Amino acid sequence: MKHLKNNRGRLTRRLVQAGALVITLFIGIQFYRFASALAGGAIPAVERPPGVEAFLPISALLGLKYFLFTGIINQVHPSALVIFLIICLTALLFKRGFCSWICPVGLVSDLLARLNGLIFNHRLRVPKWLDRGFSSSKYLILGFFVWTIFLKMPLASVKGFIESPYNILADIKMLGFFTHISPLALGVILILAVLSVVIPHFWCRYLCPYGALLGIIGLVSLGRIRRNPAACTGCGKCERACPSMIAIREKESINSPECSACMGCVSVCPEDKAIGLSLFFGKLPVKQAGVAVTLVALFCIGIGAARFQGHWQNRITNQEYLQLMTPRMGPAGPRGDAVIDPKKLERMRRMMKKRRADVDVP
Ligand code: SF4
Ligand code: SF4
Repeated sequence: MKHLKNNRGRLTRRLVQAGALVITLFIGIQFYRFASALAGGAIPAVERPPGVEAFLPISALLGLKYFLFTGIINQVHPSALVIFLIICLTALLFKRGFCSWICPVGLVSDLLARLNGLIFNHRLRVPKWLDRGFSSSKYLILGFFVWTIFLKMPLASVKGFIESPYNILADIKMLGFFTHISPLALGVILILAVLSVVIPHFWCRYLCPYGALLGIIGLVSLGRIRRNPAACTGCGKCERACPSMIAIREKESINSPECSACMGCVSVCPEDKAIGLSLFFGKLPVKQAGVAVTLVALFCIGIGAARFQGHWQNRITNQEYLQLMTPRMGPAGPRGDAVIDPKKLERMRRMMKKRRADVDVP
């Protein structure tokens, strides 16, 4: 019975991850059609999917600073900020749960980690001291971005960057990065993939600044894994299943910034009520299905509210996009660089300025 329940829990997470991957692929295909039409000098037949801005974390950070200092959600990449805020909200409930339940990179990382189990007899584990050292690198990367954007960059520069053609076309340039991937970039991605097989979750644990941010927010999360010493036999199965190598048996409450609320520890535990996720200081136990429903609900409500308030789709028209891109070269140029005609750029700037004067930028 316990075994069946555990399998159901694992399946629930996989289903949510698969659903998120399908949505991501759908967004990717629609955005590709949108950008390709523009590249050919035509007005796209499909709408630009705002969800693509989930892949613009720097834009989101800039948008966050602008929002905090002015109270205005920028209209160039509003959904980048909306998605960023929703993800931060998930961390207040389920720590780095976004990483293990929603993020497509987290899913790929999980799959590569499984390869590790198939290739090697025993799961290779990095020595704890080295793991700690590597883990800190993602916080340094996050610190660099926060320091640059929040401390070094004046508000006027933030505003200038948000409205710049570079930022306006950031999503199209990002697409170009993958559709015209350079040998160097491909090599780096392959190396990261191999490292993620050898050292499970290499990217997520050591390099992802988004994960670092969620880990820090998660320190004050309402949700936590809690172990009940009275029911725990100390078998250690939870620790062996933990992708973050957390010493679960040494604690009753897991408050590590590395915990991704994956509930792998809960799924493998053979004892009833020995370990579980709960909210509000252990008062509200949450099963995998509860985490799934809450995460999906947070995204639906957040995106619905942003749509309702007009902060989901940006206010750049297709004509403005067309003016920013040189049809002859396409959106991604031969090396993935968007090509911008300076005269069109100037016209575009004037148009944007007029548009913003009509809307809300001070
Ligand atoms: S798997 Fe369960 S019983 Fe075993 S050590 Fe972990 S919490 Fe205790
Ligand atoms: S296995 Fe448990 S302790 Fe480890 S990351 Fe997942 S939820 Fe956190």
